[in-house]
Amino acid sequence: MKGFKERVAQGDILISDGAMGTYLQAKGLKPGECMESWCVSHPEVVKGIHEDYIAGGADILETNSFGGTSYKLEPYGLAHKVRELNLAAVALAKSVSRRTGRAYVAASVGPTGRIAEDEGGDVTPQDLYKAFQEQVVALEEGGADALCIETMASLTEALQAIKAAKDNTKLPVICTFTFEAGARGFRTMMGVTPERAAREAVAAGADIVGANCGNGIVNMIEIARQTWAAQPNTPILINANAGMPVLEGEKTVFKETPEFMASKVIDLIKAGARIIGGCCGTTPDHIAAMAKAAKAVY
Ligand SMILES: [Zn+2]
Repeated sequence: MKGFKERVAQGDILISDGAMGTYLQAKGLKPGECMESWCVSHPEVVKGIHEDYIAGGADILETNSFGGTSYKLEPYGLAHKVRELNLAAVALAKSVSRRTGRAYVAASVGPTGRIAEDEGGDVTPQDLYKAFQEQVVALEEGGADALCIETMASLTEALQAIKAAKDNTKLPVICTFTFEAGARGFRTMMGVTPERAAREAVAAGADIVGANCGNGIVNMIEIARQTWAAQPNTPILINANAGMPVLEGEKTVFKETPEFMASKVIDLIKAGARIIGGCCGTTPDHIAAMAKAAKAVY
């Protein structure tokens, strides 16, 4: 199998997988339970999710390590388990990709949940750097093919994550932000535009930029366009969610169907996306439909 960086550099269209968190909830993860701890408490479930996405046609598996920094694990009393949980997360995805010989493992790195001093919070950029360093070193040690820093809203935090990844590992670094549509166009919760996010992420060393989560796949077409215009030489990853979550009784539902999301894949590719997958609410059926749509053309 060709290296991940090589595949992306030659302009191949790759399909990433879909949701981990909402899929784990569907498989019994309780509200308030630590999702990453399932890598050791329910390894067969996490592995089964990877298997389902491979069967759906994913070229990239994202590990169950989104909240794998000490800051995120601390409220569960698991701050001392950063290395163990991140190693386990990569091992599970690796075992599936190795057996099938066809998927890359992108290790998920989500926000710490803390806000840096310069943005009104109580941690220093160095604190954030150290937390990301501890996580990314374990993810590389586990054998990940790439790091996927995602769901970022703060530029300070994203740049510290990228810096920690570039300084301490040799892995290709993906960095995606989450944008919301507002009166002034697309911005992250902290007010960052797609153009600025892409420009600063690339300047900090990100190899691939883009967006994840958000509010459905249609917004992503314009977000990809703006990202591409800002950084025409950097590959773009788009992992859309299946629309905004809607509360129906006790259940959270995502309304975008596999068919609907698949119908927008070609527009996303035309807007510059090279890696396409799903975020919250997407399932192996969404990924299968999207992979089929992409592969029919590319
Ligand atoms: Zn999401």
